[in-house]
Amino acid sequence: MSNRRDFIKKAALGAAAVSSVGFSGFAKEKEDEKEGALEFPSKKVKKPVVISTWNHGLPANKETWKELKAGKSALDAIEAGMKIPEADPNVRSVGYGGYPDREGKVTLDACIMDHNSNCGSVCFLQGIMHPISVAKRVLQNTPHVMLAGQGALQFALSEGFKEENLLTPESEKDWKKWLEDSKYKPVINIENHDTISMLMLDQDGNLSGGCTTSGAAWKMHGRVGDSPIIGAGLFLDNEVGAAAATGLGEAVIRTAGSAMVVELMRQGKSPYDACKEITERIYNKHKNHKDMEYLQVGFIALNKNGEYAGYSLRSGFNYAVSDDEKGHRMEDAKFKMSWDK
Ligand code: ASP
Repeated sequence: MSNRRDFIKKAALGAAAVSSVGFSGFAKEKEDEKEGALEFPSKKVKKPVVISTWNHGLPANKETWKELKAGKSALDAIEAGMKIPEADPNVRSVGYGGYPDREGKVTLDACIMDHNSNCGSVCFLQGIMHPISVAKRVLQNTPHVMLAGQGALQFALSEGFKEENLLTPESEKDWKKWLEDSKYKPVINIENHDTISMLMLDQDGNLSGGCTTSGAAWKMHGRVGDSPIIGAGLFLDNEVGAAAATGLGEAVIRTAGSAMVVELMRQGKSPYDACKEITERIYNKHKNHKDMEYLQVGFIALNKNGEYAGYSLRSGFNYAVSDDEKGHRMEDAKFKMSWDK
């Protein structure tokens, strides 16, 4: 099966030109296609389907898929997949090995949500390798949705998690280099962030999702991004669909990004149209904003019918997709403009 999966991109591009597309917004999406694009913006697959942001979404998806097929619950499967980039020191935007804040501290944000709208979230958590697991315990073992900082750490320790140093020598070196001419100013650019956000439509037709990140590199100590905030970095309504974000968390929070994508899908928009409209809203709200210079946001969305899409403000955003028919592959999101604009 994996060989079949490995030639994915070409196969997916070829097949997509004739394969099924979403029930909604077809004509408009066709108009919106960028010149030379072979894919229709929203694609439809049979459940189950898992989609995750960025290249590190691929190994995460594979693990999630394996657990799902082994009969694990959606939340357990999401947790298992997201632990892969969290534990990988080469993924510099998630968990262990993630870039620190401007004080040299690795601070983590994560959340998880199920089809009954149960949510668990941790933010500004330090010293714990798997914030997604702590978020799941917040969902399961507390009456709350979100725990922050010392309180989140205290809870994690009481649940048996181990405290450890997450700053790798490589990340420390990069941080020290950044300090040389940073003027101590936190700036986001294309290299120094990339949350993993994952959405799932399981075999029962239920939606769930999660996010985990070390947030924006060199951020101010105490800064919390969109990723652990239900409605900003992640949102789902099991009657409608699910959405998740990556990019400049401040811009996503200002616009309640993921919740808005889901609300547009509720009104009948396809995942593609919904992601695009909210990305454009963010652009319009930031055209004259100080953040515009380095503004990047990307959304993924998945509806109850197995239609999915991704869209970003600037070029370069991709996401992993897994389903029974085509296996695991990366797909490029369409975007509004490239980085030089
Ligand atoms: N959204 C994350 C944050 O602002 C970073 C990212 O996904 O690129 O913390």
